[in-house]
Amino acid sequence: MPLKVAVVGSGPSGFYTVAALLKADVECQIDVIERLPTPFGLIRGGVAPDHQKTKNVWRAYEKSALNEAVRYYGNVEVGRDITIDELAGIYDAVVLAVGSPLDRRLGIPGEDKKGVIGSASFVGWYNGHPDFRDLNPNLDIQAAVVVGNGNVAVDCARVLAKTPEEMSTTDLTDYAAEAIHKSPLTDIYMCGRRGPVEAKFTNVELREMGQLEQCAPIVDPAQLPDEIIGDFDDRDRRLRERNLATLREFTEMSPDGKPKRLHFAFFTNPVEILGDDRVEAVKMERTAVQDGRAVGTGEFVEIPCGLVIPAIGYYGEPFPGVPFDEKGGVVVHQDGRISDGVYAVGWIKRGPTGVIGTNKHDGDHAAQQILTEIKEGGKLGRDQLETVLGERDVRWVSYADWKRIEEAEIENASPGAPRRKFSRVDDMLSALDG
Ligand code: NAP
Repeated sequence: MPLKVAVVGSGPSGFYTVAALLKADVECQIDVIERLPTPFGLIRGGVAPDHQKTKNVWRAYEKSALNEAVRYYGNVEVGRDITIDELAGIYDAVVLAVGSPLDRRLGIPGEDKKGVIGSASFVGWYNGHPDFRDLNPNLDIQAAVVVGNGNVAVDCARVLAKTPEEMSTTDLTDYAAEAIHKSPLTDIYMCGRRGPVEAKFTNVELREMGQLEQCAPIVDPAQLPDEIIGDFDDRDRRLRERNLATLREFTEMSPDGKPKRLHFAFFTNPVEILGDDRVEAVKMERTAVQDGRAVGTGEFVEIPCGLVIPAIGYYGEPFPGVPFDEKGGVVVHQDGRISDGVYAVGWIKRGPTGVIGTNKHDGDHAAQQILTEIKEGGKLGRDQLETVLGERDVRWVSYADWKRIEEAEIENASPGAPRRKFSRVDDMLSALDG
């Protein structure tokens, strides 16, 4: 009897789990269940549209999806169409790989004002994620503040800064391109509550900010230390030195002739979003770093702006039927085990950190747990899933269906662009009917 496994979520952590199970010398039947018709999670909806090379990792996931032991069930929402308990009754093992789709909150006054849009929403919007299709951010603004010094902050700032020509070879959605490129935005502030040494963005991403056609990086040389003091291992120290060297190069670049500016505002911590119902400015407290922590100095500045994007990390969403750790924003588990036969991998297990490849370890670990803990497959698996979905009139999307949706996206693309994304579920399903 093959071991029947359901993987809920088709992003990196889900597909690395599938790959690890396929690699093991055990007969398996693996079903990937995904809420959207489209697979690959943050690879499609999170990775920036101008980072197509990073997105290419989907090719590895497709190899797994096309394995005869694997079947894809898109457009099936666990919690709505079928419960996790039902899945646990149908499959020998269930793996939750649903990521952290929400924004962490700043927890400061004014953050619910119009014009404050967390990075998960903003990124989902420009990337055509159906959940954020109707976000319609008002970009009739002169200045935007991106809070955070991680790679997501850099992504948001860069997508706002690039020209139509720079984005012409990307899959930025048409509606986002139109809003961004007709915006009178001239000043983007990327605010870090700590300094350049503590910034979390990586050097490749930082360097891109010095190569933008119409946007100049602005760095205050007084904020750059001469040397790195602190307890860092060699690798960490080298990475930080590289960032400092890049920021020093930025101080020598002339902003002349570039209509947009990207201000690196280190040592600034947002304390209040100002304005009536819409954001008009962010009140920032200047900070100093003590023992690696940002400490307020009691000096305040205001940055006028019409858009604030807190890019301060993602947060997990409680999953129906699974205990949730509110503080950590992850499911309650022990070493990935939620209950007998139910496991978690990726961000919903360990929180939203690390790069795409970090999920590989999670997938390997979960596969190993499943294979050692579940001795024998005996449950009905796929046939029963299809019976239940059929009885409930759920229209599931197979992998072959997804390839047809993808084909339509590629056919519809502008010259030079990889695809024109569908951003509404109905349009994806209509592409199949049409
Ligand atoms: P991140 O790397 O953890 O960065 C979060 C940033 O927000 C940090 O600068 C953090 O400052 C700041 N922050 C947190 N809470 C704050 C608060 N209350 N007030 C002000 N600032 C606050 O998270 P991320 O940028 O969301 O990225 C998530 C993961 O995806 C990372 O591992 C990232 O490298 C990865 N990613 C990679 C790429 C790429 O490789 N191109 C692209 C996107 C994302 P502190 O450091 O002071 O806490």
